[in-house]
Amino acid sequence: MMAQYLALKAEAGDCLLFYRMGDFFELFFEDAKIAAAVLDIALTARGEHGGEPVPMCGVPVHAATSYLQRLIKAGHRVAIAEQTETPAEAKKRGGSKALVGRGIVRVVTAGTLTEEALLDSRAANWCVALGEAGGETALACADVSTGRFEIVRAEPSALPAEMARLAAAEVVASEATAYPEIATALRPKTEFDSAGGEARLKRLYGVATLDGFGRFGRAELAAAGGLVAYLEHTSKGALPFLRPPVVHASAQAMAIDPATRESLELCCSQAGERKGSLLDAVDRTVTGGGARLLGADIGAPLMDRAEIDRRLDLVQSLHDDSALRERLRGTLRALPDIGRALGRLAAGRGSPRDLGQLRDGLDGAWQLGERLAGVDRPPALLADLAPRLRGHGTLIDLLKRALVPQPPVDASDGGYIAPGYDAALDDLRDAGSGGRRAIAALEGELKARTGITALKIRHNGVLGYHVEVPARAADPLMRPDSGFTHRQTLAGVVRFNTPELHEVAMRVTQAGSHALAAEAAHLEELTARALQDRERIADTADALARLDVAAGLAERAAEGGWVRPQLVDHPCFEIEAGRHPVVETALARQGERFVANDCRLSEDGRLWLVTGPNMGGKSTFLRQNALIAVLAQAGSFVPAARATLGLVDRLFSRVGASDNLARGRSTFMVEMVETAAILAQATPRSFVILDEVGRGTSTYDGLAIAWAVVEAIHEENRCRCLFATHYHELTRLAERLPALSLHHVRAREWKGDLVLLHELADGPADRSYGLAVARLAGMPPATVQRAKSILAKLEAGRQKTGGLAAGLDDLPLFAAAAQAEEPAPDPLRAEMERLDLDALTPREALDTLYRLKALA
Ligand code: ADP
Repeated sequence: MMAQYLALKAEAGDCLLFYRMGDFFELFFEDAKIAAAVLDIALTARGEHGGEPVPMCGVPVHAATSYLQRLIKAGHRVAIAEQTETPAEAKKRGGSKALVGRGIVRVVTAGTLTEEALLDSRAANWCVALGEAGGETALACADVSTGRFEIVRAEPSALPAEMARLAAAEVVASEATAYPEIATALRPKTEFDSAGGEARLKRLYGVATLDGFGRFGRAELAAAGGLVAYLEHTSKGALPFLRPPVVHASAQAMAIDPATRESLELCCSQAGERKGSLLDAVDRTVTGGGARLLGADIGAPLMDRAEIDRRLDLVQSLHDDSALRERLRGTLRALPDIGRALGRLAAGRGSPRDLGQLRDGLDGAWQLGERLAGVDRPPALLADLAPRLRGHGTLIDLLKRALVPQPPVDASDGGYIAPGYDAALDDLRDAGSGGRRAIAALEGELKARTGITALKIRHNGVLGYHVEVPARAADPLMRPDSGFTHRQTLAGVVRFNTPELHEVAMRVTQAGSHALAAEAAHLEELTARALQDRERIADTADALARLDVAAGLAERAAEGGWVRPQLVDHPCFEIEAGRHPVVETALARQGERFVANDCRLSEDGRLWLVTGPNMGGKSTFLRQNALIAVLAQAGSFVPAARATLGLVDRLFSRVGASDNLARGRSTFMVEMVETAAILAQATPRSFVILDEVGRGTSTYDGLAIAWAVVEAIHEENRCRCLFATHYHELTRLAERLPALSLHHVRAREWKGDLVLLHELADGPADRSYGLAVARLAGMPPATVQRAKSILAKLEAGRQKTGGLAAGLDDLPLFAAAAQAEEPAPDPLRAEMERLDLDALTPREALDTLYRLKALA
């Protein structure tokens, strides 16, 4: 056995090995130690190996799922070794001492789960493979729980943003990857070559050419190949369920880098939870599929105005027609998650209940489709969606006839095929129940014959059917000529068998096992039949999810008094009475009111400098506008009274270092790296919020950096920008930068107390109120008093010298200064210097020539 175990363990590699022994999965050696610690179960020992006792622990098979869940959560992968033959088969094969054959049937990993219990129903579960070829990169992403398959064209520089968007459960890359830091598992290099990838995709879809799916670059094929190979590896050779790939270029969506995503808390709060995120604040979906799609939408706001408007049209019509919305949401709420049920069936882990869910879900979808087809003047998106809900009539009818109303999860006891579906099965069941009636009759007959009124026919797992009488009445039956055979004596009762009972019992059990086999055959056939339509079923699931998202957004808009945003071509950003959805909800819970604020950016007034006291509402204002841009382009209404905005191609949010101390990095460094990225990437169509940038260093350094950044954004990037700062000196820039204007959050001192109004007004803040905030925060009066006298001294000094920013007004603007000091690098020259001519294949050399030509 040890030899067999060690061979399987070698095959399992760095996975924990679950080794099936009877009703348990056992783990040995290091695996046992790890599992015992993670699962908090007893570590024992068994036998010896190399003179040492073998550490061992085990989990019962029937409860394996919950143990697996904890191991996967803790970051482990688990290989499952099942018995591949019965002990009887093993005996027949190799004699009475033969070991039962075992094989790894599956590798359970975080990115390849389908089980309901192991997955969050409201979040996608991505397994991502990174492909690399000739310096280019691409990602292939599969959610095997629903069959979604995306190929993402992402340059190396876009990888971090895409990885943050996907929040993958698992990332695999070639062992030769140039980006090992993003991978959770490295796989053989041979699985990631583009030619092999192409072949694997063709085999997966049974096609001779991939042209029907689009044109793929080498990196994309490498990624897809690596992904399919990994999925085949985890399912031990079975081809995964993947729908045809949807090609997704990172340029199709608003670019949002990881730092921005984190700082805006789009899909997950900084504490790492869904609660407190934008997604959580807008999510009113009622199905798992809807919640998953909304997460994807918020994570990747669109760049295509027509598509955004299609989504908005549908939200609008459901917003305006509350009765339709109510009914739609009511219907959707009752529908099972057919996307995931299909995923389980396709992975070969489906149950009768999953088929029942397909039946009920498709039936519900069909009825919904009928109803929506009757909607007067439907928006274009609805007209597209409605037909996708119908058209599963034959399958629904079949499943309705074949299955009982509530099929069980566990197929092993049968009872899921409906009566009347299969006459032979009905006969077997009749024979079974006829047999049971015969047994009841036999009991009466035996009572009469023996005169023992307490005689009973019972059934248990060991003896099967048997006769049971009280011990005091048993003597006559013990006689050899009584017709009874003694089986067992217990305290108080004695058990017997009789030939008549034996015969009827045989009939009952035989009919039972034949019936079970017949049901199992039907289950297999029905599953295969349903999977024939898997592409169309998945499409229906998508359509349901899209409807749910739209209805949920409409509901949210109605609930919060949100408006439809107007998307225009020029880069403006005009928000009237905008609110922050998360802060507003939090305040409402405490019975407080959120103060709405306007924001008006245009091409010639694109930079707002916001000053005012700490806690005055600056960050909130900045963020609410960034969130409004995300919501609008995701196709949602927005929390405002009116909103007009030009599409945002890239969104950036940076927060001054000291707010992020919890991240525990060299925070000023991080702040500068992130700010540098903005200056390098923001375009005139981008939207940038900068909150207290420069705060993480000394006053002079900080002011100097903030000053230079504002200039650069104004002169070079020319993007829309909200810049919050406590450097009052920056307000002088208003005189020199025409597209910059000054704003402040209002505050008032009232009877010696500071009142923060959270209201935005034009012009600079008249003072900083720092001391008033300190008092508000409970600093001792003596300290505040002392600070006041120090401040008076400092301000007197400032008057004399002209202050912190003295002389800056004479400095030439950023652009002019930069040009004077350093010639801009020539990209063509840089690229040529990087070239290693000897390392190029002829093909790469040609590609390189093209690239150089493009740079020229
Ligand atoms: P600052 O960035 O100016 O230090 P914040 O934006 O962090 O201030 O806001 C501080 C607190 O003030 C928030 O946590 C919130 O409770 C409250 N607040 C901010 N903006 C508003 C608003 N518009 N209406 C009501 N309360 C607000």
